[in-house]
Amino acid sequence: PAEEAARLTPNAHMLGQQGSARALNTPALVLDLDLFDRNLSRMMAHCEASGLGLRPHAKTHKSIEIARRQLDAGAVGICVAKLGEAEVMGRGGIGSVLITSPVVKEDAIRRLIALNNDMPDLMVCVDNIDNAEELARAASPERGNARALKVLVDLDVGLHRTGIAPGEGAAKLAAFIAASPGLEFKGLQAYAGHLMHVADYAERRDKSLAAMKMLGDMRDMLLEQSISCDVLTGGGTGTWDIDPEAGVLTDLQAGSYLFMDTEYNAVSQKDGAAQAFETSLTIQTTVVSANTPGIATTDAGIKSMATDQKEFRIASGAPEGTAYFLFGDEQGGLLFSDKKESEGGEKHSLKPGAVLNLETPHCDPTVNLYECYHVVQNGTLVDIWPIDTRGRSA
Ligand code: PLP
Ligand code: MN
Repeated sequence: PAEEAARLTPNAHMLGQQGSARALNTPALVLDLDLFDRNLSRMMAHCEASGLGLRPHAKTHKSIEIARRQLDAGAVGICVAKLGEAEVMGRGGIGSVLITSPVVKEDAIRRLIALNNDMPDLMVCVDNIDNAEELARAASPERGNARALKVLVDLDVGLHRTGIAPGEGAAKLAAFIAASPGLEFKGLQAYAGHLMHVADYAERRDKSLAAMKMLGDMRDMLLEQSISCDVLTGGGTGTWDIDPEAGVLTDLQAGSYLFMDTEYNAVSQKDGAAQAFETSLTIQTTVVSANTPGIATTDAGIKSMATDQKEFRIASGAPEGTAYFLFGDEQGGLLFSDKKESEGGEKHSLKPGAVLNLETPHCDPTVNLYECYHVVQNGTLVDIWPIDTRGRSA
């Protein structure tokens, strides 16, 4: 384990040293263990109180260690986006995995069936009848497969990214799966990704409840044809407290709640309440140059964070009013504000070596840029967790 940690980060030798959290070689992805644990148990307790299962999306953390912690806390399974992630999680001993995207290529289907023969509880989403036929052929018991492949029909409730529209076509797809010996129809997935970041709570609630009604109606339509759904899965961090009210889902697929990010921190909560989940994950960066008045340069630029989201927020370590900007692929910039007259009136600044932490602008694709989490507690580096499914997008 020590060799493995040293391969992942130049900071491995600091493990357990008091005060090491501020001494890390940077840029580094830093996970505050206490905040992480609070987020983990808060969401689990919320789901338990709402009579919902939690099937957290591991596209956010990409970590076997974190998936294990979620399962130990009571999650019913985990989600992954891609087959390559499922393979790594399966080899890592995670038994219950849902692949939330379609698997369509011939060789990928071969890998999927091989994985299903090795894993007790793998599920995959389907939104197309030709794809379902290919899966049924590959999973056929006549080919000596160990078990049927569990399948969810992915329902398009408005995002239009994947999924089949509710109605006759979806019902036919479900009926085909239910009648195929190599396949086991498990239920429906409905992920309203276009609603997760609707900033206004009331608007997000109305639209999400309408999306959940589409899912409930589809479930009822299938039931009329004697097809029942064990699993109705969907939802995310943006609808964590709305989905239980709809009363349709059997389990919630939230992912980002564990870490939070600038994008989710901007989304309003019920009755203007503070965020229920705390920012446990940050990018630690160090000032490396400061010769131009009013600005300084840090070691975290475009290669250190996903930049699809354009707002950058400093979580700690810089004077009030300091702005962060991208200063190229390897560097970030700090733009200092003026000091108050009572503080001497000149511009703030920071010297080389100063350490600061940024929120991740968008947590999931940022995590994918790093080899490991530096887990810190009370100022000390206490653990190193590999980002096992990093880059496994195929
Ligand atoms: N389910 C699916 C299918 C997703 O694509 C995602 C994220 O994009 C999630 C769940 C998790 O959502 P969040 O990170 O908003 O909690
Ligand atoms: Mn995301």
